[in-house]
Amino acid sequence: MPTATVHVDLDGAQDIFEGHGWDYSHSDDPVFETGMRHFLDFFASNRVTATFFVTGRSVRDKRKRPLIEEAVRAGHEIASHSLTHRYLTRIDTTAKRQELGESRDVLEQALGVPVVGFRAPGYRIDRESLELLAEFGYAWDSSVFPTAKYAAALETPVDVLAAPHEPVAGSPMVEWPMPDHRPFPLPFNPSYALILGDWLFRRGIKRYRANGRPLTLLFHLIDLAAPLPSGRLRGLSSRIFTLSTLAAESKRVRCQAMLELVKAQYRIMLTGQAIAEWRRNAIPATSTAQSRPAHGAEARAGGG
Ligand SMILES: [Zn+2]
Repeated sequence: MPTATVHVDLDGAQDIFEGHGWDYSHSDDPVFETGMRHFLDFFASNRVTATFFVTGRSVRDKRKRPLIEEAVRAGHEIASHSLTHRYLTRIDTTAKRQELGESRDVLEQALGVPVVGFRAPGYRIDRESLELLAEFGYAWDSSVFPTAKYAAALETPVDVLAAPHEPVAGSPMVEWPMPDHRPFPLPFNPSYALILGDWLFRRGIKRYRANGRPLTLLFHLIDLAAPLPSGRLRGLSSRIFTLSTLAAESKRVRCQAMLELVKAQYRIMLTGQAIAEWRRNAIPATSTAQSRPAHGAEARAGGG
């Protein structure tokens, strides 16, 4: 069976509201707090360890930090989701260096665990950010969807983007991509399936499973969080983008079915382990030195 990694982006109401340009001026964050509580219970009952993508500001938040520490104690892996959840494609090089470099330092110092993975807020990654991630010594990034838009932005053929690869010439950093959803225009991750119907996830997995590649099962806190109280919402779009249209229990039942579908067809492991296994399979053990450049050549061919 191929490998699957289970990821959770720890976006709270603050991140979601600010991403849409709405003000969020509350000291608490019910999406983060209920979502984390529910995900920790969900993974414990399923005996799954996952990779949590955390911002530096979340770990500095007194209400959020204990939940992140609990995730570490439960054996989950911590990766960086930037410092302040700003979109990297909208900021200059100096600010990018801060978002990528400082977030890693903040997380490692606060939590006492190594942080070697990254996901760009809003999946807004560009080539300069990938090069900075490699420079800062990250072992992997997971921000890319294999679509024409990413192929153009990263100057890499879409078929290269669809599989794990080394995006920066001369660096061992791996891009661990989102699942290929072509030709359907939308990803099939649980957040979209919860809005559009579980058929989207079942259909996406069935199609994707045929290629035998590793799977990234990507959850967001909204997938299990309690609906935001109406006083916190700003009209219908904020209800949809926080998945406050659905009760937490109905979301849990549906996410359970989605996880079981993956468990039946994939071996779930932490991202670092899955990448190590991918390397063992991609690079014959007897000729590591000779076969390494093949990966680099692939990345250079696409990287321009
Ligand atoms: Zn995010």
